[in-house]
Amino acid sequence: MRELSNPTEMRAWSRSERSRRHTIGFVPTMGYFHEGHLRLVDRARELADRVVVSIFVNPLQFGPDEDLARYPRDLPRDRTLAEARGVDCLFLPDASAMYPTEPLARVVPGSAADTLEGTARPGHFTGVLTVVSKLFHIVEPDVAVFGRKDFQQAMLVKRMVQDLDFGLTMDIAPTVRELDGLALSSRNTFLTPDERRSALALSRALRTLEQTWRGGEADPVKVQRAGLEAMHAPGVIPEYCALVDESVQPVSRVTAHTVAVVAARVGKTRLLDNVVLGEGIGADPRVTP
Ligand code: AMP
Repeated sequence: MRELSNPTEMRAWSRSERSRRHTIGFVPTMGYFHEGHLRLVDRARELADRVVVSIFVNPLQFGPDEDLARYPRDLPRDRTLAEARGVDCLFLPDASAMYPTEPLARVVPGSAADTLEGTARPGHFTGVLTVVSKLFHIVEPDVAVFGRKDFQQAMLVKRMVQDLDFGLTMDIAPTVRELDGLALSSRNTFLTPDERRSALALSRALRTLEQTWRGGEADPVKVQRAGLEAMHAPGVIPEYCALVDESVQPVSRVTAHTVAVVAARVGKTRLLDNVVLGEGIGADPRVTP
């Protein structure tokens, strides 16, 4: 496995692989790998000849009161996991390589970022789209794989790729969950055993939303109310429970294509989850942590 931290060397590696007619699959991450990340690697391997994974905890997407400094990091472990999973190149730029000066030009998302995570974290998606577009310019992938777990992010990146003609294919992989339904997240490592139990409020809410819709309720206000009730648990502060379409706009009627999106604070940790109601979380891959 190659390991590169210099953007110019990364671009040269990609170009040399492409000159040998190898296609490139790319998985951008912030590291502290779990099986969710590694399934994206597997998917990239299916779709391309070479797999590049980046690890970069992007300061631009964290607000001043957020967890940038305490975001979990473990490069030796990530390196071992990436190598075992057959990653061809690990790209590990540092902040000074990505932002030698404060970037003036940034990618500002449209109205789909004015809701949910965009409201909870002002400026977050501008930071995400800016770093992802930089990474796309450096790695020049044929296909990029993102997780459905960050639904709004995946949709916004997909739109950016279309709107700004990035000329790559986006692939969105299902959310990997623990056996009891909790979506894997690097931030789960912050949860105490009690909080870990309380965190099940999110997947419970998604199941309740699905069951309420399956029971014949199509009014988003009523479905949402049932979901919010299911999110109540000790130590859980629900932030939102929304029913949206693939463009992250609120729906007027709940259908099989409606996406239920939830966010809550569990202790000091913010967690997100979502489901397409017609698919249900039962269809998502499960692992033991
Ligand atoms: P992160 O390192 O948290 O920025 O995530 C990197 C990529 O992994 C993003 O595309 C995430 O959506 C994806 N991801 C995170 N958690 C999961 C999960 N449980 N299942 C599938 N993909 C995930």
